Amino acid sequence: MARVVLKNLWKSYPGAKNVAPAVQDFQLDIADREFVALIGPSGCGKSTTLRMIAGLESATQGEIYIDDQLVNDLSPKKRNISMVFQNYALYPSLSNFENIAFALRVGRAQKYIIEESVKRTARKLEIDHLLDRYPREVSGGQRQRVALGRAIVRDPRVFLMDEPLSNLDAKMRVQMRLEIIKLHRSLHATTIYVTHDQIEAMTMADRIVIMNKGVIQQVGTPEEIYNYPANTFVGGFIGNPPMNFINGTIEHGRVFSNKTMGLQIPRETGERLQEQNVHSVIGGIRPEQLYIEMGSSPVSDHTFVGTVDVTELIGADRHVHVDLGKTGTVVVRTGAETRFREGDTVTVKANMDKFLFFDPNTGCRIH
Ligand code: ADP
Ligand code: MG
Repeated sequence: MARVVLKNLWKSYPGAKNVAPAVQDFQLDIADREFVALIGPSGCGKSTTLRMIAGLESATQGEIYIDDQLVNDLSPKKRNISMVFQNYALYPSLSNFENIAFALRVGRAQKYIIEESVKRTARKLEIDHLLDRYPREVSGGQRQRVALGRAIVRDPRVFLMDEPLSNLDAKMRVQMRLEIIKLHRSLHATTIYVTHDQIEAMTMADRIVIMNKGVIQQVGTPEEIYNYPANTFVGGFIGNPPMNFINGTIEHGRVFSNKTMGLQIPRETGERLQEQNVHSVIGGIRPEQLYIEMGSSPVSDHTFVGTVDVTELIGADRHVHVDLGKTGTVVVRTGAETRFREGDTVTVKANMDKFLFFDPNTGCRIH
């Protein structure tokens, strides 16, 4: 059971001159038992952050507290943290039993306690029949379970996972995702989970932390992050296909306008934008908040006209890319049964209640 507090954490790797610090001013208060996912593109500083918490990397600046105890100077072992890596990091010359037992042996636990703990853990992960085998003699998914077993067997205060599922095939990933959620429910250990997979982050985490270039972009529940992205980076990173971004201006606090459209914005939104004296904006709308119809209906205050470019059938959905000429392209999510073809003229209707507006200079959301 542990609360983890990270205060103004910075990391600059020695020797890495003339590059921005790998992690910059990272602030986060993680509640006891919380499951937090750290997500962002490759190289954004996720692993570095996790490794600082584990004690495998020193922080250049800032403080790490576990249950109100400052742990910056504690060795990894003394922090009572367990970490699971992408590549399992199992000992190939040890049986699965010995791999799971390893930390307990190092900690000089008594033999019968080791036996019992390993078996209990293995039962929980349904690998009790594989304990006599070696890691190379079991499947990738089973190996990852052994790695999980090794991490949970000693009841860590904090559980850190660095892309633990990315070496597994798609089907096994989905299965292990569910198992880790269940495991978290039964263990209640505070968990920090690094991934670049937005589905994993959205489905598993209580809160998501999105990073880019060493800097936190937003911290929030999956719903908050999805519905109210703090900036265009978050809106574009989360969601598949990503949020549509359209350049335009706000006219008289009432209309979002550009060469292709003049969309009436909700009154309250308009008032806010006018109060802030906003003129140029980037409009943001999710593909599922746009609807298309064949043909070009008369121009209205919540529709615009374009030409179908590419369509992609993805199982139950079809993603229709609509070319808006100088305004760019928007992607509309429709049902698989729709029959739009390249070159069709279509009318796109927008759910204006879901339109967001971003500052074109900073990318930050205004409303
Ligand atoms: P992520 O896990 O999000 O992909 P990392 O935390 O591994 O990102 O890396 C963040 C940045 O720090 C990257 O630019 C990476 O090249 C750099 N980096 C990571 N480890 C080291 C290291 N040991 N020495 C120097 N630079 C490093
Ligand atoms: Mg990494």
